[in-house]
Amino acid sequence: MGVDFGVKTLAVLSSGIEFKGLKPYRNAGAKLARVQRKLAKKVKGSKNWEKFQRSVQKLHHRVANLRKDYLHKMTTYIAKNHSVVVIEDLNISGMMANHKLAASIGDLGLHEARRQLQYKCERYGTKLVIADRFFPSSQLCSNCGNKQAMPLSERVYNCKNCGTQIDRDWNASLNLERYSEHGSTRKPGSG
Ligand SMILES: [Zn+2]
Repeated sequence: MGVDFGVKTLAVLSSGIEFKGLKPYRNAGAKLARVQRKLAKKVKGSKNWEKFQRSVQKLHHRVANLRKDYLHKMTTYIAKNHSVVVIEDLNISGMMANHKLAASIGDLGLHEARRQLQYKCERYGTKLVIADRFFPSSQLCSNCGNKQAMPLSERVYNCKNCGTQIDRDWNASLNLERYSEHGSTRKPGSG
C-alpha cells in the first residue's frame, strides 16, 4: 500500500482512504491564536493576564493531545492493516524552505507521523519501504506511466497521454504502491 503525505490532506492511501488532518485541532489552533492576541494586550502579571495565561496553557495542552491522538490513530491503522507500506523519502527541509508550506507541514507533524510509522511497522511485522527521494510519485500517471510536470497548484492529475483524471495525492499514493511491486520507476509494461 502506498501512502502520500501532503499539505492539503494529511495522508492519502492508495486504497482510497484519506486522513484529512484534524479539524478540532484547527479550531483549537484558531482559538489559541485569539487568546494569545488578547494575552499580549494585558498588563503582564495582572489578574487578567494570569487568567489568560492559564487558558493559553490549557489550549496548548489540548491542541498537542488532539494532534497526538490523531497521528497515533492514523499510523496504527496504516501499520496494522497492510503487509507492505510505501512512503516517500520526505524532503522536509526542502519543503520547509517554502514558507507557505512550512506552517502547514509543521502543523501536520509529518516528522512525528513518520517516526510512529517506523516503530509501529516493526511492531506489527509490516514492511516499510521508503521510496527513493527522486521517485517522481506526483508526476507519473498511475494508469499509463506517463511522466509530466505537476506544479503544486494542480490538485488533479490530467494525463496528457491517456486522459486519466485523478486526484493528485491519490495518484501519487498509487504510484508509491506500485513502487513496492517494481522497486523502480520503470513504466508498467516496459519490462
Ligand atoms: Zn496516463
